[in-house]
Amino acid sequence: MSSREQMIRDIERELDGTRNLVGRSAFSEPVMNALQEVPREAFVPLSERRLAYNNGPLPIGCGQTISQPYIVALMTDLLDVDAESVVLEVGTGSGYQAAVLSRVVSQVYSIEIIEALSQRASEVLRRLSYDNVVCRCSDGYLGWPEHGPYDGILVTAACREIPQPLVTQLKPGARMVVPVGPAFSYQDLVLVEKSDEGEVSERKILGVAFVPLTGDHGRDSV
Ligand code: SAM
Repeated sequence: MSSREQMIRDIERELDGTRNLVGRSAFSEPVMNALQEVPREAFVPLSERRLAYNNGPLPIGCGQTISQPYIVALMTDLLDVDAESVVLEVGTGSGYQAAVLSRVVSQVYSIEIIEALSQRASEVLRRLSYDNVVCRCSDGYLGWPEHGPYDGILVTAACREIPQPLVTQLKPGARMVVPVGPAFSYQDLVLVEKSDEGEVSERKILGVAFVPLTGDHGRDSV
């Protein structure tokens, strides 16, 4: 079995152990195909490559991490998006989550606050021809209103509270997945749903540990 296939098995095993919490016993075929297809080793530093297909987070420099593959699969699946969807990601990091999303939806906009990471992720995504991902360096707390409203929003850094500008940039009927809780501790992965009538509801899914959302606005929220 290849190490990528082993990673897929590990994701399925972890989902089996958390199925009651996350409310599903399998991730969608497009999501699992994306995890199978995207070369995670291309998104991690050389020093971490031998661990690229372990089902765990890894350091990517600048004090940041690439998320655990199971969490990438879960967050993508929870968005409930399809091949027509336009999605915003806050926290580009390595670009891996954006690449996985890009296999499932039509267009990904991804924001990263650290210039060096944003540039490196853009280069990797371009080199691997993930042409439906557009990155920019800015404070993702404010979202990217020019391309919204979005069919889904993924936040991959921990917020003390759900950023209101992101809720505003969600389409009616769309979902946002965001870790909410204190910095450098455990947070709740929260599924935010905006109904067709514009009502917003929140549901805690499971405990997670993300690096904090930073920036002037993020500081208020962590
Ligand atoms: N999605 C990433 C991946 O696939 O590698 C992992 C993201 S890492 C857990 C969180 C990222 O959020 C870090 O790269 C961090 O610099 C970024 N971040 C933190 N605060 C931010 C903000 N206000 N706006 C945009 N990005 C932010």
